Amino acid sequence: MISVKTALAIISEFPKTYHFEVVSLNEALNFVLSEDVFSPINMPPFRQSAMDGYAFKYSDKDKYFIVGESKAGDSNNHILKEGEAVRIFTGALVPDNADTVIMQEHVEREGDKIHIQKMASQCANIRKTGEQIEAGAIALKKDTKLNEAAIGFLACLGITTVSVYKTPKVAILVTGNELQKPGIDLEQGKIYESNSIMLKAALRKVGVKDIEIIRVKDDYKDTKTSIENVLNTKDLLLVSGGISVGDYDFVKEALLENDVEELFYKINQKPGKPLWFGKKENTYVFALPGNPASALTCFYIYALPLLRKMSGYKHNHLQKLIAKSKSAIKNPSGKTLFLKAKLEGGSVEVLHGQSSAMLYTYALSNALICVDFETAEVKIGDEVECIKLEL
Ligand code: AMP
Ligand code: MG
Repeated sequence: MISVKTALAIISEFPKTYHFEVVSLNEALNFVLSEDVFSPINMPPFRQSAMDGYAFKYSDKDKYFIVGESKAGDSNNHILKEGEAVRIFTGALVPDNADTVIMQEHVEREGDKIHIQKMASQCANIRKTGEQIEAGAIALKKDTKLNEAAIGFLACLGITTVSVYKTPKVAILVTGNELQKPGIDLEQGKIYESNSIMLKAALRKVGVKDIEIIRVKDDYKDTKTSIENVLNTKDLLLVSGGISVGDYDFVKEALLENDVEELFYKINQKPGKPLWFGKKENTYVFALPGNPASALTCFYIYALPLLRKMSGYKHNHLQKLIAKSKSAIKNPSGKTLFLKAKLEGGSVEVLHGQSSAMLYTYALSNALICVDFETAEVKIGDEVECIKLEL
C-alpha cells in the first residue's frame, strides 16, 4: 500500500508522449494549443478610425472643408489637401495623408464645413496598422488554453483551424452482476448502475467527447475480453468495481493478463483504498473501486489530473485551499481522509453520511476536506486543506 503523495507522484510522470490534432476554431473551446500560432495579418489590417468624427491632416486651422466620407468597410483612400477633411466613422479606413481624427462632439458642422471647438492632439483617435499584432508575430503561444476571448482573437486574424492537444478517448468499463440499467423496476438483489453516467458527466465537463461505456458481469473471461477490446483504441480506461479482494473481483487479474503494467495498487486512503493504476503502451488504466463515492473521489484526485495533462492543461489538479474547520474530525485510522464537505466563506463543514456508498452527501458537497494520514485529530477552528469540487 502506498501513500496518496506517492500515488500522485507516480501518476505525475505520465503521459510520456502527447497526441495532437487539428480542430476547427468552432470546436476549439477549452482545447490547449500544441504549437505557437502566428498572425497571418496585421491587426488592424489598415489605419482605422477609433471614433465617429472627421479625419484631416493636423494643422493650426480651426476650419476644415468636408470633401468626402469614409464609413466602415469603404475602400476609398481619399486624397486630402491642406484644410480638407473627410467625414469618418468608427472602424473606417483613415486616408493615408490624414493623421488625426476629431470626434464629432468636438466640432460644429455647418453644411460642408466644420469648426473645431476643441482640437484633438495630433494622431488622436487612429488605430495604427498592426497595433494589436503584426503579421508574422506570435498571436498565441503553445500551451495556451483557448477560452472564448482567445477564440475570438484568432478569428479576427482570419484563422479557422488550430493544432491542439488531442482530448483522450475514454472507455468506462462497468463491472457487477448486481447492476441494472435505470428505467425499469429493480429486481430483487439488484441496484441501479450509476457510476457510468456519473463518470461520463464528469468527463464531459472536462471536454471529453469520445466516451464508450461497456458493461460486464462479474465474469473473468468477459472482463478480460472487454479490456482487450478497448486497450488499442482508447487513451484512458476507467474500470468501475471488481478491483477489491472479493471472490468475484476479477479486474486486476484481467488487466495483468492483458499485459497492462501495474504502476500501483492500493492507497493508504479512505475512501478508495483499492485504486489500481496501470499502463499498456499509450493507454492508461484506472480501476476505480465500485462504491460510487469512492469511484468519484478517485476520479477527482487521480484520474482527472492525468486526463487534463494528456489534454495539455498545465493546472491539472482541482484547486486546493486552506479553510477553518467547523467540524471536529477524528482520524485514528492512519489513513488520508477525503471527506465530503461544504465550503462557505473560508470555513468548511464535514457533511453527515461519509460512507463510500453514499452519493447523497456528495451531491450536497462543494469540497473535499483532505486530512493527512499523520493527522489524528482536527479540532473546531483548526485550518484544514480543502479541495474545491469545481471542474
Ligand atoms: P465493488 O468494488 O465491485 O466491490 O463494488 C462495491 C460496491 O459498489 C458494491 O456495493 C456495488 O454494488 C457498488 N457498485 C459497484 N459498481 C457500481 C456502479 N456502477 N453503480 C453503482 N454502484 C456500484
Ligand atoms: Mg463488484
